Amino acid sequence: MTKEDFQKAAEILRTAVPLMIKHQVPTTPPNYALWYTYVEKTQPQLNSELDEIIAEYGICLPSHNEDLYRTYIAGKTESDIHELRSNLEILVNEIFLSMKDTLADTSSFEKSIEKSFSSLEKVENGGVTFDELLSLVRSFVSEAQSIRSSTSYFNEQLNTASSEISNLREKLEKVQRDALHDSLSGLLNRGAFDKDISTYCSSEQSYPLCLVLVDIDSFKSLNDDYGHVFGDMVIKAIAKRLQSSCRDGIAAYRYGGEEFALLIPNKPLRIARQFAETVRRSIEKITVKDKRSGKQVKNISASFGVAQFEEGESPISLIDNADQQLYKAKSLGKNRVMPI
Ligand code: GH3
Ligand code: MG
Ligand code: MG
Repeated sequence: MTKEDFQKAAEILRTAVPLMIKHQVPTTPPNYALWYTYVEKTQPQLNSELDEIIAEYGICLPSHNEDLYRTYIAGKTESDIHELRSNLEILVNEIFLSMKDTLADTSSFEKSIEKSFSSLEKVENGGVTFDELLSLVRSFVSEAQSIRSSTSYFNEQLNTASSEISNLREKLEKVQRDALHDSLSGLLNRGAFDKDISTYCSSEQSYPLCLVLVDIDSFKSLNDDYGHVFGDMVIKAIAKRLQSSCRDGIAAYRYGGEEFALLIPNKPLRIARQFAETVRRSIEKITVKDKRSGKQVKNISASFGVAQFEEGESPISLIDNADQQLYKAKSLGKNRVMPI
């Protein structure tokens, strides 16, 4: 049943009912069928006979209705009623499905649909009057329309808003992530390091604070011997070791190209040094496969410079102290932690 079909049926109902009332016709399903057909004008013979009766009697007696029903409608009526019922069911279903798609809360609507369906059962059993049927259709349509117009608009807005919100949140998270993380290693980046170290240095709560600077040994020759892609894999492998050793508030950063930093709060130099020594040993164990030759490359190491933050010191001075220790470690033969 199309919308137009339904509108047409409703239009006929609207004309037929007042006529039935006017001519004192009981609103039974057979009478409804009769007067529906009359308004529909599909049987000219019926129309002229009915017109004559009305002209003669002013009203339409039950016997008239019954006669006309038997002559023109009987046999057809059962299927008409059935058709009406199935049409209404289709309509109900259609509206229900479209509501279900768009509405968040259809519980009251579903209840009304259930009620409508049970009323439709009665139509088939002939237990419902035309008035009841008509009011059922009317209330159903108006309810559907009002629910649809009030909630579907709201729901549409809500859907748009919530999808926009999740889009924005995703973007924001990505931007925030990108702003603080290094894409190659996944570690916190230099920007994050700068912020964190200045926060630490101005908050006594993390004292004693230590900084460890880590620099990969002879990385240039690793790049030269095995290629830049291999070099990237080494950076990733070392970053992974650094990240997995982070606990007790320790944070790892990619400070520069092949340089990393560790910020160790609440630990004195001695402990920070031991920690660096453990990390150095774990880096020594790293092997990275050279895809060109298929060989495992084992000679990977890094040097470490450790410094403890002195009260009133600037972050730059702390970095400088750690860097001086790192320089010492390099000049003493690399793959070591300074100070001893
Ligand atoms: P040292 O032991 O004294 O630290 O020597 P080194 O070769 O490690 O140090 P140097 O500063 O001479 O070279 C660092 C090299 O790291 C130079 C640069 O091309 C390379 N590098 C910097 N960033 C990256 C990167 O993201 N990927 C790769 N593959 N190489 C990088
Ligand atoms: Mg370097
Ligand atoms: Mg280096």
